[in-house]
Amino acid sequence: MTVARSPHRAWVEVDHAAIRGNVRAIRERAPQAELIGVVKANAYGHGDVAVAHTLIGVGVERLAVATVDEGMRLREAGIREPIILLWGIGPEEARQAAAAGLEPIAYDARSIELLERSAPAGGDKLGVHLKVDTGLGRQGAAPEDAVELAARIARSPSLALAGTMSHLAVPGEDEAYSEVQVLRMARTLDSMRSSGIDPGLVHVSATGGILSGSVGFAGAVRPGLSLYGLMPAWAADREVGLRPALSLKALPLRIFELPSGAAIGYGLRFRTPQATRIATLGIGYGDGWPRVHANNGFVLVRGQRAPIVGAVSMDGLTVDIGGVPGVTYDDEFVLIGEQEGARITAEQVADERRTINYEVTTALRGRLPRIHLAAE
Ligand SMILES: *Cc1c(COP(=O)(O)O)cnc(C)c1O
Repeated sequence: MTVARSPHRAWVEVDHAAIRGNVRAIRERAPQAELIGVVKANAYGHGDVAVAHTLIGVGVERLAVATVDEGMRLREAGIREPIILLWGIGPEEARQAAAAGLEPIAYDARSIELLERSAPAGGDKLGVHLKVDTGLGRQGAAPEDAVELAARIARSPSLALAGTMSHLAVPGEDEAYSEVQVLRMARTLDSMRSSGIDPGLVHVSATGGILSGSVGFAGAVRPGLSLYGLMPAWAADREVGLRPALSLKALPLRIFELPSGAAIGYGLRFRTPQATRIATLGIGYGDGWPRVHANNGFVLVRGQRAPIVGAVSMDGLTVDIGGVPGVTYDDEFVLIGEQEGARITAEQVADERRTINYEVTTALRGRLPRIHLAAE
């Protein structure tokens, strides 16, 4: 029997020993590169401040987030390492970013002007990463504009070119397309250097690029997903030595018997085909466990799979435990993770939702407490 350890109704457990092991596995794949640990979106749901401390503790050189608020949270937690902002920002945010020493991206004349206005000449220069769109078609300067923009940043009295970056669209899935992207980046860097511009730290690969091969000229890589022990779908059968860090667990709030033909939950979407036992768990779409799991998916209890039955409510869901004898209020239910040799992965949950593992952990809301195991 699993003895309940948590005082909470439902919670996220994060195994920091797994994160440290994942950092080692990533370093083996990119031994020459610095690591930029991507902790955006609350570290993909794992808890950004705690994960950031663990990453820095094992020597990860830099961090990256998506928004200024995310970067400020890390600064307020006392993190001094360089923090890159991976997405463009607005005028007010630019001032905050400059004040907090976050490193924004620039990709066109407007973004450069905005950053120049927020980092007045005379103070420390604001480090900026020039983002080049080599084929993702999302953010970044066209390669043919990159040299001129880099020159503007390098000449600026208030900005410094801290790095030059790009992002791959289909690493591991379409190697020919990725090679075109890498070639465009290499040519852009060559033109910058032959114009006398130092591109700064060069970084191109996220998890997909790290797993699919090396971008040899890059000085750093930007892993997110793999830090958390997860893999892109195309790499699912690779042996890389990553271990998932996140588990999602709950305790039963109610265990009760129902006769055959009884209805369960909003919309009466499930009727018991025979007499059974039901457990109600205190986790629902308000916690990031979406309604698409109505009559769709499983949880583990006593090392066995028990189906989710009926609708998922904002704050709870119901599980048919008729097939698992002896469940008590002390039994932990596992929605993601391992129990007595059985396992539910973020990938299995993603399949039930027709999405990807990234979205499954990132969806987990702040109201679920995070319990950090083996954190420093
Ligand atoms: C999110 C993100 C990453 C991390 O990607 P993973 O696939 O999670 O490793 C890296 N770079 C940029 C620009 C990103 O937006």
